[in-house]
Amino acid sequence: MDVDQAALGRVVEADAIVVGAGPGGAATARHLANRGLDVVLLEKATFPRDKICGDGLTPRVTKQLIRLGIDTSEEAGWHHNTGLRVFGGGTGELILPWPELSEFPSYGLARARTEFDEILARHAEAGGATLVEDANVSEPILDPRTDRIVGVRCKDGREFRAPFVVAADGNSSRLALAMGLAKREDRPMGVAVRTYVESPRSDEPYLDSWLELWDGRPGQSNLLPGYGWAFPLGNGLVNVGLGTVAAKPSDLGKVDYRAQLRRWLEGTPEEWGFRNIVGPVRGAALPMCLNRQPLYSRGLLLVGDAAGMISPFNGEGIAYALEAAEFAADAIAEAHYRGVGTASAEKALRGYATQVKASLGGYFRLGTIFVKLINDPRVMHVCVQYGLPRPTLMKFTMKLLAHLYDTKDGDWMDKVITAATKVVPSA
Ligand SMILES: Cc1cc2nc3c(=O)[nH]c(=O)nc-3n(C[C@H](O)[C@H](O)[C@H](O)COP(=O)(O)OP(=O)(O)OC[C@H]3O[C@@H](n4cnc5c(N)ncnc54)[C@H](O)[C@@H]3O)c2cc1C
Repeated sequence: MDVDQAALGRVVEADAIVVGAGPGGAATARHLANRGLDVVLLEKATFPRDKICGDGLTPRVTKQLIRLGIDTSEEAGWHHNTGLRVFGGGTGELILPWPELSEFPSYGLARARTEFDEILARHAEAGGATLVEDANVSEPILDPRTDRIVGVRCKDGREFRAPFVVAADGNSSRLALAMGLAKREDRPMGVAVRTYVESPRSDEPYLDSWLELWDGRPGQSNLLPGYGWAFPLGNGLVNVGLGTVAAKPSDLGKVDYRAQLRRWLEGTPEEWGFRNIVGPVRGAALPMCLNRQPLYSRGLLLVGDAAGMISPFNGEGIAYALEAAEFAADAIAEAHYRGVGTASAEKALRGYATQVKASLGGYFRLGTIFVKLINDPRVMHVCVQYGLPRPTLMKFTMKLLAHLYDTKDGDWMDKVITAATKVVPSA
């Protein structure tokens, strides 16, 4: 496709348009291209670009990368991890290997988003999608007759038209907002800050997490609200950060998380190197539990953070953005081949929302209950004190919090969690 046409003021037409080339958008574009559709992927930035993130990728993400056909070997530059290492409760550290499951691989990954996002965007391009960088989408183009979205206009006036549009433009999702889809206020919201440190722990094979954060010596200083992480990248750097989550956005206090992160890092052992900060401390919001709905309406599908697809259990959002990307591509391809504008195509598109909710809705709903519980620091403290010394309970907790269990033919823990997600209504 000749996207220079748009630069010349002419309209570019495609089968589908994806707005935002983060993991959700890039994966949607690649899956659509794989299904034979002519797809344009619009990104306001130019690669490589940074995205504030922990850079931690659980086996749920590994699975999706494999499905996309991306080489996740160490030779290809990926740092592998074999599990979680949990600190807290005065018990030292507890190592929880990723579970052996039929539905997921047993290794996770870590990669800075400056590299990760570009790999995915170029992968979409290599698969046949047309990636247009420096394309800042400012508004939807609506068909006045049907009130459906039929394309988008960029800030510089370029126009791209297609019968199906995907908003994968992140937490703020200007496109969804312009289509009248505001964030729900009754869903959990997180906030987190992160930076990079030069550390000898960069090659460690675990994603480290702290359930209790102290601003000095553990047990002898002040307990800080929230949880902390250190995700080794294998390149001399570790991504360190901390975050918190509230049952609704208005409950998020006005805490100076940047200062808190510095205080926490100052209290860590000197030999870890966590005081060798090499980048700015930056923060961002984590939209959770499908906080923007409906997931499909009037030709527009929401994928990833645009729909609030971050897990309230652990702040992970990349896996869900990638999973939703595949569901969205399935629905759009189905609609495309059934016949644009037909009732049958519309049914296929509506199936996207049903599919996402069937897959994630119950789990996210459990997460809203979890957030309400841990918002009381006394509950969290008791859980950490009681739970950490009990390996079976911790293994169960890890499966639940990391969303890593088999939904069919799993062990008793898998069965309990799967059953629990089925008895609650979808988020
Ligand atoms: C501090 C922090 C730590 C986190 N840590 C982790 C972690 O360790 N692991 C994990 O799995 N998740 C983590 N998350 C969540 C994760 O970052 C998100 O869930 C994930 O980035 C969502 O991907 P996405 O593609 O939906 O959106 P994004 O990654 O936000 O991508 C959106 C894209 O859209 C583009 N865009 C925006 N507006 C426009 C426009 N108008 N026109 C064109 N393009 C546009 C943006 O430039 C961007 O490239 C963390 C989040 C935060 C804030």
